[in-house]
Amino acid sequence: MFFFSKSKYCDFRQCPKIPWLKKYKPEEYAVDPQTQARFQAGNEVGDLAMGLFGDYVEVTAYKADGSLDLNRMKALTRQYLSEGKENICEASFDYQGLYCAVDILRKDGEGYDIYEVKSSTSPDHPVYITDTSYQKYILQKCGVKVNRVFVVTIDSSYVFNGVLDLHKLFRVTDVTPLVDEEIKRVEESLKEAQRVMASKEEPNIAVFEGCNDPYACAFFGYCTRSLPTPSVFDLYKLPYKKQLALYRQGVVTYEDFLRDGSMVNDMRRRQAEFALEDRGTYIDREGIRAFLGTLSFPLYFLDFETVQPVIPQYIGTRPYQQIPVQYSLHILEEDGRLEHREFLGRSEEDPRRALAERLAADIPADACVLAYNKTFECTRIRELAEAFPDLSAHLLHIRDNIRDLLDPFQSGYYYNRGMGGSFSIKSVLPAIYPDDPSLDYHNLEGVHNGGEAMELFPRLKDMPAEERERAERDLLKYCELDTYAMVKVYEELKRVS
Ligand code: SF4
Repeated sequence: MFFFSKSKYCDFRQCPKIPWLKKYKPEEYAVDPQTQARFQAGNEVGDLAMGLFGDYVEVTAYKADGSLDLNRMKALTRQYLSEGKENICEASFDYQGLYCAVDILRKDGEGYDIYEVKSSTSPDHPVYITDTSYQKYILQKCGVKVNRVFVVTIDSSYVFNGVLDLHKLFRVTDVTPLVDEEIKRVEESLKEAQRVMASKEEPNIAVFEGCNDPYACAFFGYCTRSLPTPSVFDLYKLPYKKQLALYRQGVVTYEDFLRDGSMVNDMRRRQAEFALEDRGTYIDREGIRAFLGTLSFPLYFLDFETVQPVIPQYIGTRPYQQIPVQYSLHILEEDGRLEHREFLGRSEEDPRRALAERLAADIPADACVLAYNKTFECTRIRELAEAFPDLSAHLLHIRDNIRDLLDPFQSGYYYNRGMGGSFSIKSVLPAIYPDDPSLDYHNLEGVHNGGEAMELFPRLKDMPAEERERAERDLLKYCELDTYAMVKVYEELKRVS
């Protein structure tokens, strides 16, 4: 029997091959951490939004094995509809194998309104219209009169004052006219989906614009598996649409790319040439010397870790605001002495004040500070200065003295093939020190990247003491490596200059 859900329907509308591959070749699905984080944020926001209109009933039910009990959910929905409940969350329906759950189904006179909750800040994403059109179609087929359709998103201008105000946190947008236009396509699309899903034959669809729109497809590696490596799709900082345009013209390998020449610039030429032929390390000594000449000892290597809660946790903060919770600081003296300082906030309270005070104590106002991709650190420090006016002058001085260790790499003063066209420190460090296990993030325990740190910090407060101690140690070790990596990168620049 044909079974489809709204997420499969949205997948199908992005590309018919996605639900087919999920069904027949699930092992090829390579979901990235950002997508996973998006799902997680969506669940958290969805739970909170249930209370948007006051009292509600929720139909979510689970089987003994932990999976959703759809039959029970549909039965509960029928019961609540017959009882005339005002707000039904996760209201569940199916029509001939087409399933959907409505985030909030709200009684509106004789009919109902659909509210679809999203953790994003933009209400007009086309995929939301696809999603809600499918829901409205199913509900109508099930005999439910749907009056209006709304998308509930996050209002990024909301400032938390200590008591969460759902009506200010969420923005409700009426998308009924858009849904009424889109719904005309649902029946035809579902017929096509049924045909595609019944076939054992993989849909013959080559990569196209939709592989990256609305979301980066998790099957991209699978669909490009027959291409040589590297290919134009590995060209760093060449937008996907341009990669695709080259590919469609038969420009596939780096040789093709250099021969074609239409999108070659200095940076891409270097990436392609060094990948084709190992030319060792390109060094522009003058450029590196000029950069080093702007620095003065002692050097302060600074790196922040942040969290970015969708639902603001601390007074005065907004949804999705980057909250610095941790920093690492290496101080390098001219004679080579190296000192390390660090700060890690407590996740049960707003860590910003303590962090700002420690930062101001650790870094003199006129210090020469190095960050890697300094915009991030500069912006966080400016925000701290705005939040704590008494520390503002000192913090802003620190910010004004930050130099960017990314500059010599971005300016093309240093390049080798190991960097693969990328200048992020996670690419530059192993390219400079390929065989140093002490600089390998994979060898860290627990936390290996900023995403893992961001995910771990908010959970600290709920951990038993021993587990928390270990997690805090992992966070500190990770952040320490970030600034130690910067010291090592600086040393290499010094060495070659
Ligand atoms: S990578 Fe592109 S062609 Fe392949 S399944 Fe995904 S969207 Fe479709």
